[in-house]
Order: sequence, then C-alpha cells, then structure tokens
Amino acid sequence: MSNEDEISPKSFVASAGHYMDTFTGAIVPPVQTSTTFARNAAYELPGDFSYGRDQNPTYVQAEKLLQQLEQGAGARLFSSGMAAFAAVFETLNSGAHIVAPKIMYHGGQSWLRRIAKRRNIGLSLVDQSDLSAIKNAIQPGKTEIVWIENPANPTWDICDIAAAADIAHAAGACLCVDNTVATPVTTQPLLLGADIVFHSATKYLNGHSDVLAGALVTRECDGRWEEIGEVRHLCGGILGSFEAWLLLRGMRTLFVRHEHASNTAMMFARHFEHHPKIDAVLYPGLESHPGHDVAKRQMTNGFSGMMSLLVKGGAEHAKKIATTTRLFIPATSLGGVESLIEHRATVEGPDSIVPKNLLRLSIGIEAVEDLIADMEQALEAV
Ligand SMILES: *Cc1c(COP(=O)(O)O)cnc(C)c1O
Repeated sequence: MSNEDEISPKSFVASAGHYMDTFTGAIVPPVQTSTTFARNAAYELPGDFSYGRDQNPTYVQAEKLLQQLEQGAGARLFSSGMAAFAAVFETLNSGAHIVAPKIMYHGGQSWLRRIAKRRNIGLSLVDQSDLSAIKNAIQPGKTEIVWIENPANPTWDICDIAAAADIAHAAGACLCVDNTVATPVTTQPLLLGADIVFHSATKYLNGHSDVLAGALVTRECDGRWEEIGEVRHLCGGILGSFEAWLLLRGMRTLFVRHEHASNTAMMFARHFEHHPKIDAVLYPGLESHPGHDVAKRQMTNGFSGMMSLLVKGGAEHAKKIATTTRLFIPATSLGGVESLIEHRATVEGPDSIVPKNLLRLSIGIEAVEDLIADMEQALEAV
C-alpha cells in the first residue's frame, strides 16, 4: 500500500487513513472507550497512552486524517469548535494584542470581546478583505495573533491568506485561519503560509449534523502548539470516543459532500442572482461578489455550499420566507447533508450588525431542482 506522503488527502481520508487491524484484518477503526491504560511489569506504559483526557487511539486516528487533510505537522481535536477557539487564545499573556475580522462567526467574536475585557488584551476588528486595514491594525511586538475566517460568516468576505500571512509574519505575529466553510477540499491555508488552521468540525468535516467537535492543525510544532496541547490537557476540552469515531466516519465522505454542495450552490446562486424578489445573492463564486477574484485564485475546487440572500423587504418578511420553505429547514448551523435556512440577525441577537433582510443558506446534497423550486415557491408565497 502507498505511503501516507504519496497519496492525496482525498484518498487518505476515504480509507480512514489506510486503517487495517493487523490481528483481525478489520478495515474500520474501532471505538476505543477505555479512559485509562495499564502499565507493564517495569511500570512503564507500553504505548503512547496513559489517560483519556490526554490521548486515546480513536482521537489519534481522527487526528491523523485532519493532519493529512490540512497538510500540517500536528492536529488536535476538541469537544467543540469553541473549545478549540478558546484554547488558541488561552496561550496569550495579558498585554497581548489580537487582530480579527469585524464580520466573523459571532460566537468567536463574543469570546474575543470577553477576554479583551477581562485580561487586558488589545483587540482590533478590521475588514479582513482589506490587507492595508490588517497591516495598519497590527502593533509590532504586541500583536500575537491575526485571525481570519475563510470565507467569513455571513457575507462570505474573502481574505488573501498568503498576503495576510506575509503581513502577520513581518510583524512577528502568527496567522490563524478559520477554515470551517472553505474546508481543505478548496483551500489548505497552511500551504499558503498560515500557522494554525481552525475548524468547527461540527460542520462540513463531520457533515451530518450529529456531532459537536473542534479541531486545530498546525504548520509547525512550536511553543504555541505545545501550549495548546497543555491547555487541552489541563482544561479538559476533549470530545468523547463515540464523537471522535462519528467524526472519523464523516470525514471519509468530506470530498464528495463538499464538492457536491459547491456545485449545487453555484447553480442555485446563478438561478437567483437576478431574481425580482432578491436584492443580492452573496456568494464568492459569483463575479458580483467583492471577493470573487481572490476566491477564484485561492479556492481551487468550488466555493462551498454557503451563501446568503438579501431579500427585498425587512426582517419580518425574511423570517416568513425562512418558515415557508418546505425542503430548506429553518435552523442554525451549516455543512450538513440537509439544506438549512436561517435569519442570521435573529440568531446573533440584539448586538448583531448583520443586515435584517439577510437569509443564510447552507446548501446540502438534495437535488438542485428541488432546492430551486422550494425557494421559488417560498418567495412567491410570502
Ligand atoms: C460553528 C462555527 C464555529 C463554532 O464551532 P462550534 O462547533 O459550534 O463550537 C466557529 N466558526 C465557524 C465559522 C462556525 O461556523
């Protein structure tokens, strides 16, 4: 069988990391539920395992897939995306400074605002598609982390990752990329110079809306990476073995799911681009999207299944559409095989800066003609 370095991540994950149990010949990795691992007669640990809060063979197998997908030097799983997010910022000392997008995953920004207030950490929120804004916000010697989201919720702003990495590195900062939406199917930020890739593995990586998980993948096993490992070990934000196993199974079909969703989303976006009841379709695959040129260069295999519709009318009208669809389910989250629709401003709450007429769509793997017909009937009925 080929060496791990010679085959593509697509083939590597399809086979669950070329798993083969040498004793039984089983080709599917088992769920290892043991929380503790025995020592031998010399009172030494026979394997790499001691206690389940540190490591477990099921996490290790899932982490191997993640590491290959993002072409990193190491990968770590967490109990949710937010647990992984918090672990990154837990490495900062008071007095440090962070640059992050003005428009990004709302929960992540809430966490940043919280640590900025409580721990004397500086926070600059910028338009991530404007490289000079990132550059101007950086405080050399103080800025430790530049965080970007690829593409950013829910307007799908694009940041040029390679250029942002150069800017961050020139000032001694590290670049972290939330790659939840683009996924390694379209973009591998570490190969573009990013230092850490973040995933809410709850979304596309798992893909079936039945697991909460987070992941970090690093380009180098440096001091920050060691510390992130320590944070996971000491704060205990590890997921259970069953969840790790479900995630492992989900990742085996990541490429077919994501590619299919991207193709369907492109057709869907084109269909509604000039619709009389819609002001704009926000999708990086459309020439009308401000980030299209960078996205075309940076996203090499589709533009994901995520888009937003700015509908004609206000918040109430938009919410009515979201509850009149029959196939699209009015629910938050994204990246599952079923299509979802949500009124983002309601979900984010009173401090949201999201336009009130914005509906966020997560395109699943249903037939494109059914999804188009469903949206047509909802726009017509309301
Ligand atoms: C969902 C999400 C998160 C948070 O992840 P959880 O798994 O819900 O904790 C972070 N970033 C993005 C882009 C997300 O969609």
